[in-house]
Amino acid sequence: MTATRIEGKDVAGALKARVKDAAAQLKSAHGITVGLGVILVGEDPASEVYVRNKGIAAREAGLHAVEIKLPASSTEAEVLAEVARLNADPSVHGFLVQFPTPPQVRQTAVIDAIDPAKDVDGLTATNAGLLVSGREGLVSCTPSGALMMIKQVKADLAGLDAVVIGRSILVGRPMAQLLINESCTVTTAHSRTRDLPALCRRADILVAAIGKPNFVRGDWVKPGAIVIDVGINRIAGENGKTRLVGDVAYAEAAGVAGAITPVPGGVGPMTIACLLRNAVIAACRQNNLPVPAAL
Ligand code: NAP
Repeated sequence: MTATRIEGKDVAGALKARVKDAAAQLKSAHGITVGLGVILVGEDPASEVYVRNKGIAAREAGLHAVEIKLPASSTEAEVLAEVARLNADPSVHGFLVQFPTPPQVRQTAVIDAIDPAKDVDGLTATNAGLLVSGREGLVSCTPSGALMMIKQVKADLAGLDAVVIGRSILVGRPMAQLLINESCTVTTAHSRTRDLPALCRRADILVAAIGKPNFVRGDWVKPGAIVIDVGINRIAGENGKTRLVGDVAYAEAAGVAGAITPVPGGVGPMTIACLLRNAVIAACRQNNLPVPAAL
């Protein structure tokens, strides 16, 4: 079997176009320019690239992009002051703080300070709780994007066995919750899970969010399964260069799976598209307007 390759760029491109239309509609019908903010603390090169790409994507979709860069030496209080400023800024409908932050700035303190209505990363306890309760909130972007990719190949997931490897608050936990909400039977695996290969072999849907290059092997994959590779790992490549690979040994798994996402070009592009989508959703809700059905 050779798996269908689920192209994140295509799915994300289509979503970005719908977001752009919705943003234009908010502007023309209601005079609202959707604002998306990002706070970056420090000079981590990977984080700088992510933040730059988010700004470019926001502007391309017609959003007002606000980028706040703080030095790595910033105190937690200084970061929280910027969070409070964006919470209060009516031109910014959603924002995120790029993690990881330097060690003196606690991630939980930052998350707890974000207004849940503007929490486009879906990290606050309020939004996490709303997701668990099956109620309307803002859902973490990477799992939202991953679910959209799964639905590209199968619309009705009810009754399927899903295994999510990883239990982070950013990816694994909300991913599992989204799949529960789709009526899948979900197992969340992590570093203490026993006999992970055998568990994975039962999965109709296998999501890998681990952060270990090529960790999931082809013989862990159930024939015909949908495999979503969230991992982004930089490894040594040819001629002294580096390259990106996922958590799944792609060539092996693609020989067994029914459908699979590549790295790069899979879940990554979807994450940014879902971030823009969340900003538009937040803007609609803050103005008591319905969220466009196309989103
Ligand atoms: P994380 O917070 O480090 O969580 C990794 C998870 O993997 C943990 O739950 C950990 O288990 C589990 N794990 C580690 N080693 C394992 C093992 N040997 N067997 C089974 N489980 C194991 O990472 P994250 O933020 O969720 O991100 C995961 C990956 O996704 C990373 O590569 C990251 O770069 C990527 N990512 C991609 C996007 C995107 O846009 N595509 C967005 C976010 C993250 P424990 O809990 O037991 O430690």
